Amino acid sequence: MDFTLSTEEREVRDWVRTFVQRELMPMEQEVLRRERAGQPGVTADELRELQLKAKQSGFWGIQTPEEYGGMGLSAVMTALLEAELGRTFVPFRFGGAADNILFHANDEQKERYLLPTIAGDRKSCFAITEPGAGSDAKAIRTSARKDGADWIINGEKTFITGGNEADFVMVFAVTDPEKGANGGVTCFLVDREMGWKSEYIDTMGEWGPASLIFQDVRVPETQILGEVGKGFELAMQWIGRGRYILPAHAIGSCERLLQMAIDHANTRHTFGAPIAERQAIQWMIADSGVELEALRWLVLHAAWQVDQGIDSRHAQSIAKLYGGQKANEIVDRVLQIHGGMGYTRELPVERWYRELRLLRIYEGTDEIQRRTIARNLLKGHVKVSGILG
Ligand SMILES: Cc1cc2nc3c(=O)[nH]c(=O)nc-3n(C[C@H](O)[C@H](O)[C@H](O)COP(=O)(O)OP(=O)(O)OC[C@H]3O[C@@H](n4cnc5c(N)ncnc54)[C@H](O)[C@@H]3O)c2cc1C
Repeated sequence: MDFTLSTEEREVRDWVRTFVQRELMPMEQEVLRRERAGQPGVTADELRELQLKAKQSGFWGIQTPEEYGGMGLSAVMTALLEAELGRTFVPFRFGGAADNILFHANDEQKERYLLPTIAGDRKSCFAITEPGAGSDAKAIRTSARKDGADWIINGEKTFITGGNEADFVMVFAVTDPEKGANGGVTCFLVDREMGWKSEYIDTMGEWGPASLIFQDVRVPETQILGEVGKGFELAMQWIGRGRYILPAHAIGSCERLLQMAIDHANTRHTFGAPIAERQAIQWMIADSGVELEALRWLVLHAAWQVDQGIDSRHAQSIAKLYGGQKANEIVDRVLQIHGGMGYTRELPVERWYRELRLLRIYEGTDEIQRRTIARNLLKGHVKVSGILG
């Protein structure tokens, strides 16, 4: 068992760490100011500029296969980079990426959707959730009815990340109500110009997702991604593409937060001594340190399983559940250690407090992860002794 990073892994990780320190962290105060003014923290032009800067050093398409101009990095490397990006709340992601399921596009669709998305010229969004179907995704009602050579889509999607900015949507609709999720759901690529409308949803976070309305949106057969009736499998592939990535991001946030708490505890004096000397504070620091360490290895282990081609769903659910729970406990303790200042908007702690809360909800809530983990154990799909047997 070797827990050390290779020289290459260390170099790639260190480059991103420096990029975050030099390019992103200096923007933090402005991002907070813009949030208070109700503006996006980073404009589309600024994001593009940062992405192009990273591209000059080869950081483009982190997980995009090399044949499409990407880096095709491993899951472990992706987790390490994601943790570095998590050290700041400045919303940044590397350019050159496309949703994993877009790679199932046929040649003509690749030209119209996949390649422009990788190039950053088009923006996509993924829409399965509906007002009546979130955790229970099989309950979707949005329908697509055949009309001659076309399909007519009707329904409403909600909480769609990037839905207000997207040029096109990968939308999941019921094409055979009798079969439902078992062969009766199809994925359509639908341009905004084809007639869907979006409405921004205000959230606790800086930027919100959107509701999408489909009212008799007519699309030709050529807009089907994959095959008729095979949409639910695509949706599950998208959701399962990397559950380790969200908790990986949280590792970086927790590292930064815990360091802030340590610095504050060492310098803030009450009753004639630094609060770091109080056991109540020490225990909060200790618990956070232990949980952060555990999270780091749960995430890297899940990512390692992905790279090994092992069925990693159980490990990913564990990492996602633990990350969501513990990151929220850690940020709460860090806020507590900062006292009144932690509650103000002068420090970024409250921002992380709001941001990390989402981790327990999207891409499978805590309860849904527990459901998966319990089912695997109760039915004997995985051993209680883990992959070591
Ligand atoms: C900011 C944001 C971005 C999002 N982005 C996208 C996106 O891009 N595309 C997309 O399609 N969706 C997106 N979602 C939707 C997200 O995936 C759902 O919100 C999530 O799956 C939960 O569904 P729900 O909100 O309908 O809650 P519900 O499913 O109604 O759940 C309500 C509560 O009941 C619990 N619960 C549900 N079923 C069970 C059960 N069997 N046992 C125990 N407890 C249960 C849940 O855990 C939760 O606590 C996003 C959501 C948010 C908030």
